[in-house]
Amino acid sequence: MKKNNDPESKRKKIIESALESLGVRPKAPTYVFVILLTLYLLGTVIVSITASKQEAVHIFGQSIAIYAFAGVFSAIANICVIFMAIYCGKKGYFTALALLIIQIPMIIRGVIASKNLNSLPGIFSNLLAIVAISVVYMNNKRLEKAYIGLRDHAVTDILTGLPNRFAFSTLLKDLIKRNEKFVLVWIDLNNFKGINDSMGFNTGNEVLKEVSARWKAIAKGGLTGTTDFITRIGGDEFGLIIRGYDSEEDAVNTIRRYEAALADQLTVDSCDLYITASFGYAEYPTDGTTTDVLGNCANAAMMEVKRAGSSNRILRFSPDLIKNDQSLETEKLLRDALDNDTMYYHLQPQYDISHKLRGFEALARMKDPEGNMISPAVFIPVAEKAGLVDLVDAAVFRKAALFFGGLLKKYNYDITLSVNVSVRHLMKHDFIDEIKNILNASGVAPEQIEIEITESIMIDSVDKALKVISELKALGIKIAIDDFGTGYSSLSYLNKFPANLLKIDKSFIDKMNSTDSSKQYVAAIVSIGHIMGFDVIAEGVEEDDQLDTLRTVGCDFIQGYIWGRPLPAEEADRIVAQSVRQ
Ligand code: C2E
Ligand code: CA
Ligand code: CA
Repeated sequence: MKKNNDPESKRKKIIESALESLGVRPKAPTYVFVILLTLYLLGTVIVSITASKQEAVHIFGQSIAIYAFAGVFSAIANICVIFMAIYCGKKGYFTALALLIIQIPMIIRGVIASKNLNSLPGIFSNLLAIVAISVVYMNNKRLEKAYIGLRDHAVTDILTGLPNRFAFSTLLKDLIKRNEKFVLVWIDLNNFKGINDSMGFNTGNEVLKEVSARWKAIAKGGLTGTTDFITRIGGDEFGLIIRGYDSEEDAVNTIRRYEAALADQLTVDSCDLYITASFGYAEYPTDGTTTDVLGNCANAAMMEVKRAGSSNRILRFSPDLIKNDQSLETEKLLRDALDNDTMYYHLQPQYDISHKLRGFEALARMKDPEGNMISPAVFIPVAEKAGLVDLVDAAVFRKAALFFGGLLKKYNYDITLSVNVSVRHLMKHDFIDEIKNILNASGVAPEQIEIEITESIMIDSVDKALKVISELKALGIKIAIDDFGTGYSSLSYLNKFPANLLKIDKSFIDKMNSTDSSKQYVAAIVSIGHIMGFDVIAEGVEEDDQLDTLRTVGCDFIQGYIWGRPLPAEEADRIVAQSVRQ
């Protein structure tokens, strides 16, 4: 099978028409050119007829010489010519130029033949028009260049140079409009987050670039026997559109070529990495007839590949995948829990290193209708995607703060309530007001509240986040950097960050005692935290030897099953009562 057209130029054409429909570049259709040319020719004919006529006509009692009309029609003809140069591109400009130049000897000949100098100024008006259209043309060319830049920018992913999501959906819509059979493949790199977390964003970016370059070479080189269009949809997600295949097997063979392109190791920053990806696909029109449905189908198939974790990483969509789609089910349960206000919380105690109570972290809890707990590790990401996480955060904060207010009154004991706030929530315009309302309603002083923000997600919008965080600090609320070490731990960034507490992620505590360097790493985090003026808490401490090490390296606080699991409120009450007695 041969490639029927070059996808690159195809996509540019599509985007061009999209930009034109947005009015970014006004270019008139051909019929406008034809009308202007006809009007011009008509005007010129009238001019040549009227110019030599010596008779006069009578209008409103005035006698006007017919040759005087020649001036009017000549002006109309020139306006047509100027419009041509402005709106009809290169073709319009050169036609206009030719017409204006041809007129000059004609005018001179007319002057000589009629021995009438009246039309001589016409030459100057022609020269003026030539200058005017040339200026307009040059200016249009400059705009055109900017336009081409804009067009390429609008359809290209800056990091990888691949076509972007916009180009992807534009081509999809176009294919659907033309009712052309194609396969849509949704691709997601496996464990990309792990690379980002462990090796940093820059390495992650290099990986994306290298993978993109390999795939681009396949698509461009026409190596697969099908017509392929590979795009970066965002993050580590890519979209592939396959056309010009005979059977499904052809399409799958094409996908295999893309999979095989990852087989060779990738060397980034002198580290050898092995990358794999998950591929889910759906076919138009068999599996769906709109871009959304097809995208969801291919995505569901890709998710199933990830979930199954088998060595076969290519899967076609089938309707029963949707039925198993856990996240839709979870989203429904979430909405119910929020509507019925059944979202609740557990409190996990935090202690200083000598086992004195520091306070509690409130953790969201939710049950399904059978009463089984659903882990927040499952429902929080769903809430984030569905735009519900602010409601979850607020429900947990409101309920936990009310309880905590009562606890403080009852025992008059100096402890802190930590709550988790998702960055999506933090960015909401009324976030600060919401916090103030909860503080007022619960009677808890801001100094006894701590807000935990996950380190990795703040990077995207540091400035806005920092502004909100400064406002929280100004209120007296404490700030903790959650899951520290899993994100982008740049020192300069940390330095800017007005936190009070650094929470070392559980993953570091888990492996802390397995190698000497892991222990050194935790020791380094504690030192850095202290240098920055933060207290440091270790999360997920389960064993005595972890506790010993944390003591040696000077960690300030401990949170973990070793001294307390997340508990219902009444048990937290008992813990406080015990602490007061001690
Ligand atoms: P996180 O904020 O890092 O919370 C700590 C998690 O580690 C909790 O899991 C806690 O139960 C668990 N944990 C604490 N100590 C130990 C230990 O010694 N061993 C083990 N194996 N686990 C320990 P949980 O409650 O499942 O929460 C998971 C995540 O869900 C939280 O991680 C947090 O990111 C998110 N989350 C929970 N509640 C909320 C909330 O109200 N709002 C938001 N935005 N996120 C929440
Ligand atoms: Ca937390
Ligand atoms: Ca954490």
